[in-house]
Amino acid sequence: MTTIYVITPTYARATQKADLIRLSQTLQHITDVHWIVVEDANATSKLVTNVLKRSKLLYTQLSIRTPAFLLRQKKEPKWKKPRGVAQRNRALLWLRENIQLKKSNGVVYFADDDNTYDKDLFNKFRNTKRVSVWPVGLVGGLRFEGPRCNNGKITGWRVVFDPNRPFPFDMAGFAINLELILENYQAHFSSSVAPGYLESSLLSSLVQDKTQLETITPNCREILVWHTTTARAHLNREPYVKAAKTLEDDKVEV
Ligand code: UDP
Ligand code: MN
Repeated sequence: MTTIYVITPTYARATQKADLIRLSQTLQHITDVHWIVVEDANATSKLVTNVLKRSKLLYTQLSIRTPAFLLRQKKEPKWKKPRGVAQRNRALLWLRENIQLKKSNGVVYFADDDNTYDKDLFNKFRNTKRVSVWPVGLVGGLRFEGPRCNNGKITGWRVVFDPNRPFPFDMAGFAINLELILENYQAHFSSSVAPGYLESSLLSSLVQDKTQLETITPNCREILVWHTTTARAHLNREPYVKAAKTLEDDKVEV
């Protein structure tokens, strides 16, 4: 069986545990998964360890802090700077240092912690030979964005935002055969690219162009992943909780 390496960057915020629990319980439906969670922090956290342990999944917990120059400034729009780059690259390094080529079949998928995944997605891309691609819901300002195809052959792309990108699709919309990642040990995400070019920065070192990609369903019309975003939690009434045991409350993991 081919192992699916699911790479998830994650950072501390009020909704982190809720997002990670949801993803972990999706992954519990999948066989032969190895979940690589990379925290955007100097050290791994208890909260994330607890989610991983409880998941009963095979996992690796890593951490690396996003360098200061890539942190979002106050009032700076979200899309200006790429997110999760150092973390995904850290996971690629872990694969190259820990997994031996030929010993194991694998496929790599980058699963952000706040997206919504249909459990059927994973077995559809498990047999990716090089790089496979599929449509993603609710992204790129569209109901869905991604390849158009016919009998498994890509015929075009449903994309409006910068369609001239070498690989004009979202992080959640492709998977890569592990061998390709291990063979091309220099391939990585570049943080200095224009918005929307993060996916292209990795894939350009792995495949010639977007005509070389595989599909996972005959007609590319099944949406199995959605680029959802979790609303920010409002905690403004916390200071007014009437209880003698506020300090005990602070120990409650939410
Ligand atoms: N992320 C991170 N550090 C950050 C911001 C985001 O590690 O400072 C992670 C986040 O947990 C998610 C991924 O990077 O798994 C993409 O971030 P986000 O979902 O905020 O971006 P969007 O989906 O809006 O592009
Ligand atoms: Mn997201």
